[in-house]
Parts: sequence; C-alpha cells; structure tokens
Amino acid sequence: MSDAPKIESLTIIRPDDFHVHFRDGGVLRAVVPSTARDFARAIVMPNLIPPVVTGEQASAYKARILDCVPEGSFQPLMTLYLTETTQPENVRQAIDNKLIHAIKLYPAGATTNSDSGVHCVERVIPVLEVLAETGTPLCVHGEVTDPDIDIFDREAAFIDKVLLPLRERLPELRIVMEHITTRDGVDFVKSQDDNVAATITPHHLMLNRNHLLAGGIRPHYYCLPIVKRESHRQALRVAATSGDSRFFLGTDSAPHTRDTKESACGCAGVFNAPNTMGCLAQVFEEEQALDKLEMFSSLAGSKFYRLPANDSRITLRRFAEPVKFPAMLATATTSSPAGLDGFDQVTGPDSSIVVFDPAQPVYWDVVRD
Ligand SMILES: [Zn+2]
Repeated sequence: MSDAPKIESLTIIRPDDFHVHFRDGGVLRAVVPSTARDFARAIVMPNLIPPVVTGEQASAYKARILDCVPEGSFQPLMTLYLTETTQPENVRQAIDNKLIHAIKLYPAGATTNSDSGVHCVERVIPVLEVLAETGTPLCVHGEVTDPDIDIFDREAAFIDKVLLPLRERLPELRIVMEHITTRDGVDFVKSQDDNVAATITPHHLMLNRNHLLAGGIRPHYYCLPIVKRESHRQALRVAATSGDSRFFLGTDSAPHTRDTKESACGCAGVFNAPNTMGCLAQVFEEEQALDKLEMFSSLAGSKFYRLPANDSRITLRRFAEPVKFPAMLATATTSSPAGLDGFDQVTGPDSSIVVFDPAQPVYWDVVRD
C-alpha cells in the first residue's frame, strides 16, 4: 500500500450507461430519474412485452422515456430486439432515420422476456449484414440456453459456439458482448480486434457467487448472467480498471418489483441505477485506479458507439463514513399503455424495487446540487 494521501474528490466527464432496462408504465416512471440524474445517455434495452422490434416502436418508447425525465438533457439511445422474423430493410430504415443505435441479440429463453429471441443465428445473418455494412453495433446477451450446459459455464460456451463462428463469418460486424462475467469473456475480447468490446456491470465487479448463495440465498443478487466465482470477479476488475477502451460501463440495471424477486421462482436482475457511480468509485479506489474511472464510465463506450464525449461533468466525493444509499424505490401505481409491459398490475406494498446493496462499505457518492 502506498502512503499517498487519499483522493477525496474526483471530477470526470459525465458518464453514459451502455446497457439499461427501464421497462414501461409505472416502473419506467419510477426508475428513469435515477439514471437521468447521473448519466447523460443510456443504451436502452428493448425487452418489453411485446418486445421493441420496429423503428416506430423504438420512437414511441423513447417518447415515453423522455416523458419521465424530470429535468436536464438525458438522452435515451434506442435499440431493437432481434427476432428471426426481423426484416433487414426495416432495420436499415431505422438506422438511416437515426431511430436506433444498436440491435440486441437475445438467445431465445436466455433471460427476462427473451422468448422472442434467436434460436439459430444463421436465420438472422441478413440483418447482421446490414449492421456490419452500416457499422451499427450488435449487442449480445452472451449465454447459450442449452439445458445440458451448466449455468456457470454458459458464457464460455457461447463464445465457442456462437461468437467465434460469427466473427469468422462477419468480421466487419461490430459486437458488444454485454455484461461479461468471466475471465473467458475478458480473454475473448482481448483476443479480438477493435470490432469487439464488452460492457461490465457494477455488481459483477463487487459480488461473487458466495454473496448469492453462501449462508442463505439472496434473491436480490440473482441476475443473468449469474455471478461467478471469485477468480472471474478479479479478472473483471482488472479489465475494467485497465484503461483498455474495449471494456466500458453497462449497468444492466434491471428493475423488478420486490414480490417478483422474493419468490419461489424469482426474476433475474439487479437494480443499481441509484448507486452505480459511488460503487464504481469504490471499486476503482480499491484497485488504485481512480484515474481510469473516466475511461471506463465516460469515454470508452461513446468511442465504441462513435458518439461525441459528453460536454458536462460530474464530481464524486469520498466521505469519512460509508454512504447510506436508499434501500428501496417506490413505483408509481398508474398503469402502462395497454399491452406494453408486464407491470400493469403493480400496486401495493410489494411493488417497490430494492436498490443494489453492494455487500461492503462504499465511501463514494456523486455530489448533487
Ligand atoms: Zn440486460
């Protein structure tokens, strides 16, 4: 340990979140302000029920999101949900009209609301060719769904079975491997050229599978891809704090109401939007890499997405005592437009959303005036 005085405050370019779930209706209204408060832009995942599959639907969803932004200039960056019936020409049009910034590939059945996802990548090659041609990123949920493959091995298997063949087939396709959780994911990205990058979540930098499973099962740490053993967490921390611009922040902040998490068959997802930046500063301080936080959270992602860096800044402050983050967020009880999500019935005491508990003291938080 060095004897250098502790850094007490840090000002960085305002960060972006390159992977967030806002849902719709009352949950949307409840969660958007948390992201808009600290982030300038966010890549918004399209896995509503039914999913966002056309440019028009993405525009309508964007308008609903903007309606929930309290003040300021937060900009949602929209995506489409790739299905086996997605038409390449529709995608090209949505890109040309600047309605979308990426397309998300969910292997069918991999995670929350992924039933309409892709069973066979071969069937979506014409759409992927449009992405390659236009330089539009493909965001992938990198897990196989084969029931014979152990849940802790699904990311590594996806690299071998899907990503490596896809790289060979379409080397110009720009791919973001979303929320990587393993050393295998880190090694894969590092072995590729600049057309491949990865997002990393705050919770995968702070938790290993003991946090989830040892001494009692903690449903609020259950997410997909599932948290892995400690050696994988360490590999993620090294990658995130390395300054390598192929690794950047995607929170995968994924709100589920408390009753759907604390259940015999609980939903996957961690809601971390309110405390992401404090948690990250803690991690980067522990790795003696606070000088790399801006690259990870504010520069690398926009570079990959070919967007200008933000022109505003945020300041993080180190407090003498651990920061007390809010434990819970209440959801609005108003219902969503008919049929647009699964949250129309959300009311009552269990409809709150539990905020990520980082399982350790965090001394950092964003200074807000
Ligand atoms: Zn996600």
